[in-house]
Amino acid sequence: MEEIEKSTEELLKEKLFYKKKNAFTSDEENYKELVRAYAEGYKTFLDRSKTEREAVVEAIRMAKENGFVEYKLGEKITRGGKYYFNNRGKSLYLFVAGTEPLENGIRICASHIDSPRLDMKQHPLYESEKMAYLKTHYYGGIRKYQWVTIPLALHGVVTKADGETVNVVIGEDEGDPVFCITDLLPHLAQDQSTKPLSKAFSGEGLNLLIGSEPFGECDEAIKLNMLKILNEKYGIIEADFMSAELVAVPAMRARDLGLDRSFVAGYGHDDRVCSYPAITAILENKNSEHTIMCVLADKEEIGSEGVSGMQCDLIIDLMEEICKCLGGNFNVVKANSMCLSADVNAGYDPLYSEVFEKRNSALMNCGVVMSKYTGARGKSSTSDASAEYVGKIRKIFDDNGVIWQTAELGKVDVGGGGTVAMYIANHNIDTVDIGVPVLSMHAPMEVIAKNDLYEAHKAFSAFCK
Ligand code: MN
Ligand code: MN
Repeated sequence: MEEIEKSTEELLKEKLFYKKKNAFTSDEENYKELVRAYAEGYKTFLDRSKTEREAVVEAIRMAKENGFVEYKLGEKITRGGKYYFNNRGKSLYLFVAGTEPLENGIRICASHIDSPRLDMKQHPLYESEKMAYLKTHYYGGIRKYQWVTIPLALHGVVTKADGETVNVVIGEDEGDPVFCITDLLPHLAQDQSTKPLSKAFSGEGLNLLIGSEPFGECDEAIKLNMLKILNEKYGIIEADFMSAELVAVPAMRARDLGLDRSFVAGYGHDDRVCSYPAITAILENKNSEHTIMCVLADKEEIGSEGVSGMQCDLIIDLMEEICKCLGGNFNVVKANSMCLSADVNAGYDPLYSEVFEKRNSALMNCGVVMSKYTGARGKSSTSDASAEYVGKIRKIFDDNGVIWQTAELGKVDVGGGGTVAMYIANHNIDTVDIGVPVLSMHAPMEVIAKNDLYEAHKAFSAFCK
C-alpha cells in the first residue's frame, strides 16, 4: 500500500496534542483474554465480600494462599517477609518488607472495603399490622429511593451476652429467603410524586419487611416468631441486637453486563473495584525491593473516623513497627513514602451529561483515573497532589504501559466528594487518587468496565514493582 506522507501540521499535532487512549485499542498481547480472566476473579471477590468484615476474611484467605503470615503489633518483621495485620476484623493491612533500605520509603496502596448500605438499629425489631419489620439507619451516601423494592440480604455479626460472636448471612444462597423495603403503588402516590426526591423518601421509612407468620396467639406473636426463628438458627435473643452489626445489602450477585460482556454490574464496586487490584498487585509482587503496603480501610463512606477508619493512627503505628525492625529514621521513611489512594471516580454518563465537564471527566474503558485533587467547591477537603508527585506516578504508569486518564468528579459547582487521600497525605506522605470509573456510584447496583479494572491492576502492580 502506498504510504501517505503526513503534513507538518499532523506531525506537530502528534507531538504536541494529548489524546486519551481507549483500552480496547491496547496492543498488549491477549489483552481481551487477560481482561476477562481477571474480571472473573474480581466477581468472585465481590460476591464473597459484601461487607468490610467479609472482605477482610476473603483478603486474608488470598494472602495466606500467597505465603503471607499474620502479624501482631510488637512482633518481629524480617526483610523479605510477607505479613497481614487484621484490625478487629474490619480493616486489613498487607505488607511486604522489601530488600532495599527502608529510608527509601514505603509504597502504599490504600483503598476502602466499606460500601453504602442499610444498618440495623440497636432496637430494630417490631411488628405492625400482622407484619414484622427491622428498623434501619442508612450508612454512607445513599439515594433512598434506590433501596426500595429490591431484594436485600442480611449480613453481619451478633455478639451475645456471653461474649460469643456469631456470623449472620441470610439471602445469598439460591434457596434463601430475601427481604425488602416496600414502596407506594403509583395509584396512591400522587402526593409523593410531587415531592422533591430528597423529601419523597425518609430515612425513618426505610424499614425492612422480614415476615408475617405468628407463633401462637399472644400479643406480638409475629415478632415472637421472628425471634424464635433467629434463636433456633443463631442462638440469639432480642437484647443481642444491641451488640450487633447487622446490615442489609443488595442480594444480587455480580454479573456481566452488556451483549459484549464488557461491563460488570454489582453491589459495592466502590471501593472493592480498587481493593481487589490493590490486593492482587501486592500478592503477585515477587522479591520486592521496596517495602510495600496495601491498606483495606473501613468507614471511608462515613468520614474515615474511628479505630477501623483511615484517620486512625494505626497506619503510623505499623510504619513505626516496621522501622523498629528494619531500621531507619521514621520521619525520613515517611517523607520518602508514596501513596496511591485507590478509590473510584465517577464515570462520564451521557444520560446525565449536564453534571459533567467532558474534557475533565473519566470516560469508561479509557483506563484508570488519576485525580490530582477531589473535594468540593474551591478544592475544599482535598490534599491536592503536587505536580512533581503526579509527574512521578505518570512516569511509572507510562513506563509500564498502563492506560490511564485524569478526571475531576463532575462540574466545579455541581457537588464533590472526598477519599482517604488527605488523611494519608497529612502524615507527610505524598498521595494521589487513582481508581476505576464507576457508573451509578453508590446505587445498589453499580457498573464498571472490565478494561478499567484490569488497568487498575496494572497500575497498582507497576507502583509496587
Ligand atoms: Mn470510595
Ligand atoms: Mn463512596
